[in-house]
Amino acid sequence: MSKFSYAVQLAQKLVRCPSVTPEEAGTLDLLEDELKQIGFICTRLFFGDGKDRIRNLYAEYGDGPSHFAFAGHVDVVPVGRSTDWNFPPFQAEIKDGYLYGRGSADMKSGIAAFISAIRNWQQSSKAKTKISLIITGDEEADAINGTTKIVEWMKINRIYPDMCVVAEPTSQIEIGDNIRNGRRGSLSGKLIVNGIQGHVAYPHLAQNPTFPLMKMLSFVSSTELDVGNSYFGPSTAEVTGLSTSSQTSNVIPKSASAMFNIRFNTEHSKESLQGWLEEHFRKIAGDFNVEFEVEWKSNALPFVTEAGKLTELLSDSIMSKTGRNPELSTIGGTSDARFIKQLCPVAEFGLVGKTMHQIDENVSINDIDVLTNIYEDMLHRFDKKNEY
Ligand SMILES: [Zn+2]
Repeated sequence: MSKFSYAVQLAQKLVRCPSVTPEEAGTLDLLEDELKQIGFICTRLFFGDGKDRIRNLYAEYGDGPSHFAFAGHVDVVPVGRSTDWNFPPFQAEIKDGYLYGRGSADMKSGIAAFISAIRNWQQSSKAKTKISLIITGDEEADAINGTTKIVEWMKINRIYPDMCVVAEPTSQIEIGDNIRNGRRGSLSGKLIVNGIQGHVAYPHLAQNPTFPLMKMLSFVSSTELDVGNSYFGPSTAEVTGLSTSSQTSNVIPKSASAMFNIRFNTEHSKESLQGWLEEHFRKIAGDFNVEFEVEWKSNALPFVTEAGKLTELLSDSIMSKTGRNPELSTIGGTSDARFIKQLCPVAEFGLVGKTMHQIDENVSINDIDVLTNIYEDMLHRFDKKNEY
């Protein structure tokens, strides 16, 4: 008999599968075995072709009509140089109360906690609540053949949960201090300005694209996009790359290019930002008599789940199991919650994420058990709210 809880042991088994994105490395077989034992019906969903083919799992238990969903990803980011690790990244070693390994925080232990919570809940609940699990192997990379496709599949099959919790490690310092109820959107631009190449000693025969490019960029990075709103801080823009076609210092380049990224809140849409920037780029290009092109890429739109049923349920469970009053926040990068928002209210809550993606990623095993208790408590409260 291991001295560790079911959740901690399952987290260890998951960490031992080297599921560096987009591999699932046996994690889905493992989860399917565990879930079938407690009455789940499992459906494997494959999206994409060839080497882009991604394996996902949708699992469902109970009849409803009320329906609670959990979501998570089994893929992890690469380990970097494994010799830099003090704890081998896929060994799932436990030392001094911490479980070490790639994916321990982000987010295999979160998945282990919600499965453990469901097992405990099943033993003490007579409710028929439908529980579903949305598990993807494609969150850390392109997120093209993962949750977004599962959500499409759920829509076609008319599967609409009442609410969903994503087990991302949202806690900042102590478990329970932070719930994520929205995320900013992301818009990337590649801006290319074309002038006329020439000798630096004869600038009147050339058209230098670097100065207009700098003018355009200073507009990108110095403009206050907004002051934020009740759910979000101000949107931010960062220039991330610069280059010109010139290799030497005595040639005025033909073209100069830059990359930038905007993290934007719900005060903007990607169309409004693009239109506004392109208008200014056009004006500057006109003033300097140069041409420009801009390539836009956006893989995430901002979303927010307004404070309400779901955030109250989560906050009440967190308070009852930890005594902490979680802050609602929308900080951080993008997450798969943005896709689930199309189905139902969604919030993210999980373990302390401060070591995620780092060398010697780790998580407190006590926190895994606390998280299990919070998730179980939440399911009981959900039953009650639905008047069984
Ligand atoms: Zn994650």
